[in-house]
Amino acid sequence: MRTIQAHAGRQPEPDSFEGKTYSLRPDAVFSDRYYEIIEQLSETLLQSSPNPQTLLLDVQELGKHKRALRKLLTSDAGSPDTLLLRTLSSTLHPFTSGVELHLRSLRGFDRWNRTLTMSEEQYHLAMVEIELVNSIYGGQFRSCKKKFAFLPHCLRDLEAECRSAQRDIDYVCKGCSDDCNVNHVSKTLRLHGVKPYVWMTADLRSVFRKAHKEGNSLGVLGIACVPELVRGMRMCLRHGVPVVGIPLDANRCARWWGKFYWNTINLAKLEDLLKD
Ligand code: SF4
Repeated sequence: MRTIQAHAGRQPEPDSFEGKTYSLRPDAVFSDRYYEIIEQLSETLLQSSPNPQTLLLDVQELGKHKRALRKLLTSDAGSPDTLLLRTLSSTLHPFTSGVELHLRSLRGFDRWNRTLTMSEEQYHLAMVEIELVNSIYGGQFRSCKKKFAFLPHCLRDLEAECRSAQRDIDYVCKGCSDDCNVNHVSKTLRLHGVKPYVWMTADLRSVFRKAHKEGNSLGVLGIACVPELVRGMRMCLRHGVPVVGIPLDANRCARWWGKFYWNTINLAKLEDLLKD
């Protein structure tokens, strides 16, 4: 089991930390239990698969077929996919218990939005996919000459007057609040040679093109809610950019709730991903 290190930054009361569809800390101050489970699942899958890349592609492919997933989950066939979905459902459901209610509440065009309409099985597969990518590409990411991190602005201190300012490719935190998780995460990233940006304006495709043109090896660390993060990580890999990612502890931004609630990530997991 990995060592749980000190957690900096402001953390909310356990019973007030709710996500619209998921929460990695539904009844705890930190999301350590989630990471124990997801790391174990990922390790077991990697050990039972001769080729990590093929495993990753299989998990991605399985997640594309939303309707078929529910059938597979409830089928009597006992196929490897059914067994995988059942294992994920029994271990990860406590973290995704809001999905069904959210799906039933969708109205109008929201019912056609791929991010908002992810099923619970797709969440579970996305969680596994993120962790598999972290295991498979973590070493390559850490050995890149240039490393950028893109943080969501919903991780900032919502009560502070944010002084982040536009720099080369995007906004950079100015460290104005000790209660700000962007501030704490940015400091940790800088200590490990990663340039942190608050993602507001950067066009990642042009950032990648520029890095390739200049002959720089570029690695990316992403932080976002599960649906956005898994898509962003796939996009990086499609462009040949080694990527690692940490999901926000819950989805709590205006897109999901109509207003912003402040958010956290697991800083011990961040340290784990950054250390050689
Ligand atoms: S610490 Fe950084 S991200 Fe947080 S409010 Fe201040 S400038 Fe903005």
